[in-house]
Amino acid sequence: RKMTEQLIFLDGQLVKKEDAKISVYDHGLLYGDGIFEGIRVYNGNVFRLKEHLIRLYESAKSILLTIPYTIEEITEIVLKTIRANELQSAYIRLVVTRGVGDLGIDPFACKNASVIVIAEPLNLFPPELYETGIKIVSASSRRNRSDVISPKTKSLNYLNNVLVKIEANLAGVPEALMMNTDGYVAEGSADNIFIVKGNELITPPGYIGALEGITRNAVLEVACKKGYDAKEGVFTRHDVYVADEVFLTGTAAEVIAVIEVDGRQIGTGIPGTITNKILAGFREIVETDGTKVYE
Ligand code: PMP
Repeated sequence: RKMTEQLIFLDGQLVKKEDAKISVYDHGLLYGDGIFEGIRVYNGNVFRLKEHLIRLYESAKSILLTIPYTIEEITEIVLKTIRANELQSAYIRLVVTRGVGDLGIDPFACKNASVIVIAEPLNLFPPELYETGIKIVSASSRRNRSDVISPKTKSLNYLNNVLVKIEANLAGVPEALMMNTDGYVAEGSADNIFIVKGNELITPPGYIGALEGITRNAVLEVACKKGYDAKEGVFTRHDVYVADEVFLTGTAAEVIAVIEVDGRQIGTGIPGTITNKILAGFREIVETDGTKVYE
C-alpha cells in the first residue's frame, strides 16, 4: 500500500493524505490550543482505546474544549480510520484542535473544534535497542509545573518536550530526563520512567510532573501481578543513578531499558532481568487487552 493512498479522518470525512490540510487560522497551529493522543494497534487490537479516550476527554475538559463527538462516536471513527487503511499494526494519532478562529488568542472565536485521526504503519525503535538498552542524559529544561498547564493534560503545547528532545539529540542519545522545578525526577520528553531497587518498582506520580501514561499504568498492573512491589513514588536523580534497573515506558517505546544516565552505568550496564520480565509481560497483554478492529 503506497503512502499516497493513505486516508486520514479530518472533520467528518476520510480524505487522502495530500488533501488532509487545515487552516493557518487554526488555533492548534497559532497557539498550541488543542489536545492529542498517541495510540497503538497490535494485530488488529487497539490497545486500551477506552483509557486513551478517557484521557482525551479529561484533557478536553481541563482546557474547556468541547469534542464534537461522544466517546462511542470517536471509538467508531478511530476503528473506521484503521480499517480504511487496512492496517493490522499501527500507530494512531488523534488530534483535537480548538479549530479555526482569528489571529486573536480568544478561543471563543473558534466555533468548531477540528478532529483529526491519522493511522500509520508503525515506525519502531530498532529492535537491537531492546537487546542493548539505551543511554540517556538529564535535561536542563524543567518539566512544566503542575499548577501551570498540568502535565496530565496531553495538550498540543509540547514545546517544552521538544526542547528536551533537542537536548537529547545534542547529547547523541535517544531520550533525556526531565526534573521538575524542585529537582525531583518527572519523565522523559515522551515517556515515563521507572526505577527498580530490589523488589520495588517506582514511577513518579502525575502531580510531580508526569503524564499518567497508559503504558505506565499497564506496567504497574503487570508488575503487581508478577509479585513486585510496584507503586508511585517521588525520587531524585541520585536514586536513578544508584537504581538496580531503570526503564522508560510509552506507547511507541513500550518498555525500554536504560543502561546509562549522565555517564553513570545502571546496574551491570545491560537490560535487567526485571525489565525484561516486565517487557515480556507487557507484550503478552497487548495481544488481548484491546478493542478489536475487524469483526
Ligand atoms: N509522557 C509524555 C510527555 C508523553 O508524551 C507520553 C506519550 N504519550 C508518555 C509520557 C507515555 O504515555 P503513554 O504510555 O500513554 O504513551
